[in-house]
Amino acid sequence: MPKKKSAPDWNYAPAPESSSQVNLAKRYDHFIGGKWTPPSNQSYFTSTNPATGKKIAEVADGSPTDVEAAVKAARAAYKGSWGKMSGRERGKYLYRIARLIQERAREFAIIETLDGGKPIREARDIDIPLAANHFFYHAGWADKLDYAFPNQKTAPLGVAGQIIPWNFPFLMAAWKIAPALATGNTVVLKPAETTPLTALKLAELIADAGLPDGVVNIVTGAGETGAAIVNHGDIDKIAFTGSTAVGKLIQKSLAHTEKRLTLELGGKAANIILDDAPIDQAVEGIVNGIYFNQGHVCCAGSRLFVQENVFDEVMWKLKRRMDSLIVGDPLDKNTDIGAINSKAQLKTIQRYIKAGIKDGGEIYQPSCDLPAKGNWCLPTVFTNVAQSSIIAQEEIFGPVLAVQTFRTVPEVIEKANNTPYGLSAGVWSDKGARLFQLTKSLQAGVVWGNTFNQFDPTSPFGGFKESGYGREGGLHGLAAYLNLEFS
Ligand code: ADP
Repeated sequence: MPKKKSAPDWNYAPAPESSSQVNLAKRYDHFIGGKWTPPSNQSYFTSTNPATGKKIAEVADGSPTDVEAAVKAARAAYKGSWGKMSGRERGKYLYRIARLIQERAREFAIIETLDGGKPIREARDIDIPLAANHFFYHAGWADKLDYAFPNQKTAPLGVAGQIIPWNFPFLMAAWKIAPALATGNTVVLKPAETTPLTALKLAELIADAGLPDGVVNIVTGAGETGAAIVNHGDIDKIAFTGSTAVGKLIQKSLAHTEKRLTLELGGKAANIILDDAPIDQAVEGIVNGIYFNQGHVCCAGSRLFVQENVFDEVMWKLKRRMDSLIVGDPLDKNTDIGAINSKAQLKTIQRYIKAGIKDGGEIYQPSCDLPAKGNWCLPTVFTNVAQSSIIAQEEIFGPVLAVQTFRTVPEVIEKANNTPYGLSAGVWSDKGARLFQLTKSLQAGVVWGNTFNQFDPTSPFGGFKESGYGREGGLHGLAAYLNLEFS
């Protein structure tokens, strides 16, 4: 095996995306019943840029009174024009929203990067186009629900309360709003407190699309605002994406109600490299799975299982690839790893790195200069990780990879499934038969073969075990917003 070389001695010239065209207000109110509505308690919080620590905008802090107003508006729209509208007409609005997202894609990508810290390349090439695709895909179903569910009567549920996290703020909003509208429901959505801005810009876009007032309401705030949505008596369905801890709380609070619930929670995905895998592609898949996007992905490939006889080769290539990753200004088009979303999250990641070292893991981080301000974490890999180590067990939500080895396929199946989570997994092999043997044995909602972190609106996404239940995307995702009855 060749000796590890130091980092490549070339550099890219900076290629920053300009944020000068972006139109952001200093202060955002709630979007309720088609109107910008100040918070009832006059309270606002600040959304900051995690790459600079600078304040971007003030955002309304939602109280139960604000949630009440939003639910009322959503109910009125459901009982009014939206509830009576044909699927064909609903579909036209969804197409219009999709096209407007495409037209304003650049602005949305920049705001996503400013507010959340993810590299502009990710926001521009993945988050925003996929969000538009979700609206296009669901627009197509709006007038075809009878064909989607043959021999069944379909009816919307009513008002959906939707709570989303900070890792894919715009994509999650689209992912939740599009199927709800396609199936004839109305929505009260709460974005995460650290990344509310693209959802608020989406409210502007929705108003531009002429959607009837009250069909989509956006209320901002933190956990208490989310809890007010969950516990509101006139909401028919809760769709939640976030931590397993909060998911469990929500499930408990809804246990005695008839509200429908879908939960998309944490993950600890196994990325499995068999000895006949295309190693170069697999290394790129590992990097894509855990380092791009700062590991801020619930389906991140945070546990790597490498077959023992290719371990040295994989690790040599992986470390060399890590040496070439660019960490820094998320607005720079060359950046691979942007800012950690919040100071609190950075502290959590640092705590896990310390715990990994304490548990006996061998740490590797490339050397690289980090910007003086902002929240940064170097790409990190741990080898010599015991199955019982905290970094192999718990979700870190940062660019930290725990590597283990295996000799046989049954052994890796056992190890990969030995986690409370089951959201996603990846398998790399040259042979279809080996891929399928593994994919059918892994307890994960999504298993990627010779790729990682691929998303498509037509494909259902969701978890096993503590990763939640219910699916989003595809026909399964549509069904989650419908009452279905065999006719
Ligand atoms: P993360 O660890 O990814 O921030 P959280 O589960 O804390 O995940 O947050 C995900 C979303 O859930 C955010 O919009 C947050 O404000 C909201 N949230 C937090 N606590 C609660 C709660 N008790 N009830 C409802 N929503 C909540």
